[in-house]
Amino acid sequence: MQPRVPHLRKWRDGAHSFHARNPRRSLVPLRYSADWRSLGFLFLLSGLYWVQWSGLARHWSLLPATCLLAFIAFIIKHNHIHCRTFTSRSWNRAFEFVLSACTGQSTAAIIPVHNERHHGKFHTKQDFVRSSLVNFNQNWLNLMVFPFAVVRLVHRTKSSDISRWQKEKPGLYRCVQRERAALFVFIAVMLVLNWRATLIYFGVPWLFGQWES
Ligand SMILES: [Zn+2]
Repeated sequence: MQPRVPHLRKWRDGAHSFHARNPRRSLVPLRYSADWRSLGFLFLLSGLYWVQWSGLARHWSLLPATCLLAFIAFIIKHNHIHCRTFTSRSWNRAFEFVLSACTGQSTAAIIPVHNERHHGKFHTKQDFVRSSLVNFNQNWLNLMVFPFAVVRLVHRTKSSDISRWQKEKPGLYRCVQRERAALFVFIAVMLVLNWRATLIYFGVPWLFGQWES
């Protein structure tokens, strides 16, 4: 049976959070202390992006490690859209920009596909990450083809889902627009400065991380 998953907007207060119970122990208003690990992974990932893109350190082993950490960043993003990482609204907003940069796509923009369709309409035709999308006899082939099958379906409807938010969820709609604009500027600047390094050291991990879907 599909577990009931809380929607993003229901997680407003920090009454049961680590920070609420330990208000003087940390300057960082984390909801749960376990998320220090998530912050550590993102810190490491950002460092790997930077040293490779800038040319400070390039080694064949660093790119697979970056791909693995990008995959973990997608998992952190998934967790965040169900249960926001911080008890502070402004920290969450800032964190969503960081997650967008680490994964190459807006954080709020995955809510229609994931929270609304996958969890809200689990395994129906409206769920674009339903396992029945691929049906090969070999599971390795299912694993390889699945992300492409998902992307094809998502791109057909994603913009209409987000346009619908203009009236239904204007706050989330503005979040998507802001995150997309910031990401667009970030990618454009990086491409202008060094397009080849941007495609390799950001583009490859961003694509690899899509397997998390
Ligand atoms: Zn989920």
